[in-house]
Amino acid sequence: MPELPEVETTRRGIEPHLTGRRIVRLAVRERRLRWPVPRGLETTVAGQRIHGVRRRAKYLLIELDTGSLILHLGMSGALRILPTATPPDKHDHLDLELDDGQCLRLTDPRRFGALLWTTRAPESHKLLRELGPEPLSDEFNGEYLHALSRGRRAAVKSFIMDSHVVVGVGNIYANEALFLAGIHPARAAGRISRQRYEQLAAAIKAVLEQSIRVGGTTLRDFTGSDGRPGYFRQSLRVYERAGRPCPVCGEAIRLKRIGQRSSYYCPHCQR
Ligand SMILES: [Zn+2]
Repeated sequence: MPELPEVETTRRGIEPHLTGRRIVRLAVRERRLRWPVPRGLETTVAGQRIHGVRRRAKYLLIELDTGSLILHLGMSGALRILPTATPPDKHDHLDLELDDGQCLRLTDPRRFGALLWTTRAPESHKLLRELGPEPLSDEFNGEYLHALSRGRRAAVKSFIMDSHVVVGVGNIYANEALFLAGIHPARAAGRISRQRYEQLAAAIKAVLEQSIRVGGTTLRDFTGSDGRPGYFRQSLRVYERAGRPCPVCGEAIRLKRIGQRSSYYCPHCQR
C-alpha cells in the first residue's frame, strides 16, 4: 500500500509535469473506484489550468482554476506521466490529458483509489478536515504529543497511528520510530514524559524523511512507460524481524499484536 513517503515521492515526481499545463480532457474508463468518479467531472475540468500539486496526508490535491481534484491511491494505485496515445492496460482507469500530448494515468488494480472534486479549500473537505497535523510540519512535535496524550490509556503505538493525532504514521513507521525512541509500543500514551515524546516526534520525522529520500533515489522514473513505479522499503531495524537480533543489543526482537496490528520491539531497548 502506498504510504505517506510514496505519496510524497509521487507528488514530487508528477508535479513538474503538471504545473502550468492545461487539461485537454479527462478520460474515465472506470468510474467505480472507492467512491464513484463524479458524473460530469470530465466537463468541469476540461480546459482548466493546473496551478500546483500539493499533498495532505495521503491525498494529492491538484489545484485548478475553479477548484481542486482530490486524488487518493488507495491500496494499489500508481500514477505515471505518459504520452496520451499510449494504449491503456486493463487497470488504467483514468487519464488526465494535458496540452503537451502527455497524460497523468492512474493505474489501480484493486480500485480502492479515488478521484473527487471540490470547489472549496480542500482542507475543509469532509475527508480531510478532521485530520491531525502533518508529521513533517513544525506543528507536530513532542510538546504537541505530550499535551494531547494526557489521560489516554491507549497504547502509544495506536495513539501515533491515529490519523486524528497525526497523519501518515503507518505500521512500519510506527514500529521503527518507537524503536529509535526506545519506547515500548504497548506503553500507555498518557504515561510517557514530554522528553520522551520529543524523542518520538524526532524519530517519526527521521524515519519518514529517510523513506522519502530513499524513494527519490530508487523509484523508477515517473515518465517510464515500461513497468510501474515500484513502492520501496527502507532498511528496517525491527519491522518483520521477530526472533532476529536487535541491531543495538542483540536481544531477540519480539512480536505482539497491539490494536490488531503487528508490533515488533526489542524488550531490552524499549521501555
Ligand atoms: Zn535491543
